[in-house]
Amino acid sequence: LQPGCPANPPRPGEGVRIGVLTSGGDAQGMNAAVRAVVRTGLHLGAEVYGVMEGLQGAVDGGDRIRRLEWNDVGNILHRGGTVIGTARSKDFREREGRLLAAKNLIDRGIDRLVVIGGDGSLTGTDMFRQEWTSLVEELVQRGELPVEVAAEHPHLVIAGLVGSIDNDLVGTDMTIGADSALHRIIEALDAISSTAASHQRSFVIEVMGRHCGYLPLMAAIAGGCDYVLFPERPPAPGWEDAMCEQLRAGRLAGRRDSLVLVAEGAIDQVGKPITAAYVTEVLKERLGEDARLTILGHVQRGGRPSAYDRWMSTVLGYGAVMEVLSADPARPPRVLGVRNNRITAIDLGEAVKRTKEVEGMIDRGDYESAMMSRGGSFREMVKIFDTMARPPVLDSASELRSEGGARQPRVAIMHAGGLAPGMNTAVRAAVRLGVDQGWTMLAVDGGFHGLVNGRIRELAWSDVDGWASDGGAELGTRREIPSSQQLFSVGRNLEEHQVDALLLIGGYDAYEGALRLVQERERYDAFALPIVCVPASIDNNLPGSEVSIGADTALNFAVWALDGVKQSASAARRCFVAETMGHRCGYLTLMAGIASGAERVYLPEDGITVADLQRDVERMRASFRAGKRLFLAIRNEDASRLYTSDFVARLFEQEGGDLFDVRTAILGHLQQGGMPSAFDRLLATRLLKHAVDCLSDQFERGATDGRYIGVVGDAVVSDLLVHMPEHVDQKNRRPLHQWWLELKPVVVAVAEPDASPDES
Ligand code: ATP
Repeated sequence: LQPGCPANPPRPGEGVRIGVLTSGGDAQGMNAAVRAVVRTGLHLGAEVYGVMEGLQGAVDGGDRIRRLEWNDVGNILHRGGTVIGTARSKDFREREGRLLAAKNLIDRGIDRLVVIGGDGSLTGTDMFRQEWTSLVEELVQRGELPVEVAAEHPHLVIAGLVGSIDNDLVGTDMTIGADSALHRIIEALDAISSTAASHQRSFVIEVMGRHCGYLPLMAAIAGGCDYVLFPERPPAPGWEDAMCEQLRAGRLAGRRDSLVLVAEGAIDQVGKPITAAYVTEVLKERLGEDARLTILGHVQRGGRPSAYDRWMSTVLGYGAVMEVLSADPARPPRVLGVRNNRITAIDLGEAVKRTKEVEGMIDRGDYESAMMSRGGSFREMVKIFDTMARPPVLDSASELRSEGGARQPRVAIMHAGGLAPGMNTAVRAAVRLGVDQGWTMLAVDGGFHGLVNGRIRELAWSDVDGWASDGGAELGTRREIPSSQQLFSVGRNLEEHQVDALLLIGGYDAYEGALRLVQERERYDAFALPIVCVPASIDNNLPGSEVSIGADTALNFAVWALDGVKQSASAARRCFVAETMGHRCGYLTLMAGIASGAERVYLPEDGITVADLQRDVERMRASFRAGKRLFLAIRNEDASRLYTSDFVARLFEQEGGDLFDVRTAILGHLQQGGMPSAFDRLLATRLLKHAVDCLSDQFERGATDGRYIGVVGDAVVSDLLVHMPEHVDQKNRRPLHQWWLELKPVVVAVAEPDASPDES
């Protein structure tokens, strides 16, 4: 300590009491948000109270407003629903109810609220906030509140988090629960599609989405469905025939099953509901098929939250505490949401108003405006779905293009680098979107090795049927890139197979290999062709993209495995040292740490020092002495060359003595396997759409750029491969700027009750 420096500087939450509640419909991920609010609040020195059963709990008071301690929110991250209960409260809609709520909160000294719910809950809480002064005055007039107590709570400060599986709040990318609901739908669609394909059946599946097409549209793309009906885009009159024609054409083109998704709020252009039962009858009658109906219902609300709903809700809960501790009571309240993976605060009243407006547009039949309000990405996904689902025989435009004189481009698709779930989804999208352009699509089997050996074949629209949900990589992938001696064979094969462009879907090796071809153009004319690299790597270590295909799936598998690891430890006092993949990039480790509630993460970006390990041992000792039963430390496989997971575990074991035992868990290749998550399927599809556009643009201009594409913010962008060295740390094979490192303080805030806020 420097002279004059206070030993314990006051924490920003000291003397503050924060209430947290969940209200309206439940959504997976609410628990992660509640946990983060409680722990961040305590970490910052505040007291936190859980208001049980939503706003009704505030009205009822008594033990429905309970002080929550650190351990009260332990072991809840993996649970669906909300452990503090939710409800729809009639009483709160009346002023009398809100008077009671104000009194109950003030009696406990609470004048800051984090509310997690839908637009109704946010509206109700905001009304409560606006009335607060008059409610307090009335309580004083009635003699129910001493004047001096009232004076201590002149304002109610609120922050809203949106819990809604529908993803219907205008102004944020994702609401809490939407990703998990998509997981449930995709699980069901994958199961249904395998039985449907076996019997060549048609299935109609009803999914949630009263006013918002997000779930049905995204599920239709990720699930490889044939037709989708959702509220913002009612089908034109005669749609029944068009739908049947499209399904018939799909069968002719080689599809073994037909899947139609119907949102529960689907309507026709005069606003008449289209029920899933009606669609099933239409298919039976007009196609003469054995169509079956499945209504997914509340399954979509249930089950374990996805990794995204855990880490995103944790980050939001952390942000909400910061908001209620710092917000100016005079400023309109804000909702915290996520835009482009970052916390964003938007005006609560405005967000609710714009959300309600979209419902009004649909009710009035102004569908165009409703679609506009959903934003550019949503509209883009609608177009992508239409193209991907349209069988080639229906597409006269592409037939004309392919028949018209000039030779159509031949585009080769190839993987390189480690396996990433979603590679097959990406190839499927490339083939379907390329065929739609009239191109001939080729597969290179076995990565660069296949290119050296001429393993190149044609891929048709129907060859990729069923690939949307397949894990692994049908085309095969290898880490090697061609040596100088092999470049000649690569060039010869490109020429022999008349390859006009290369589409590389893979990891760091794919990028390096592609850059090599670009750099060798002087010597090999055959390399002067358009090349586009698409990021696919569970490591998420590629330049020019904040996310890469496969990383979300790997994260979900890691979190699922860590749930098991945590449960196995619940009977003993145990420290687990779990090891995740990622090479020299800590993305998987940090995100898995946030999503699984790890006490400590070791990242390659930070390395590991003896001082770190000593501090961790001390933390562990203190926490086990205080009654803790589990300490989860997650170490990236390359966090330190010499302080291996085994070394770290042995050190903890030795130092733990009789206080706790230590086990290691190497998550290993589990993280590379499995069916791709909904997010990865959507990302793969969107990126391939842009990759195909990038090639098409180059064909038109006669350009031969080598480029890599990726998602930055809400846009898909591209850069020349020759610029890649400026954006990467070549030694560590990772981007120079990594956005997710900003989330490191969240781990400390929700894992270390006593760490000073400065350490986070
Ligand atoms: P979901 O999207 O799942 O329906 P929601 O939060 O929109 O969630 P609502 O039933 O609309 O769910 O609202 C939840 C609770 O919020 C209501 O039961 C009521 O207590 C309160 N609330 C909603 N609107 C108001 C309002 N205008 N005034 C006071 N309280 C309200």
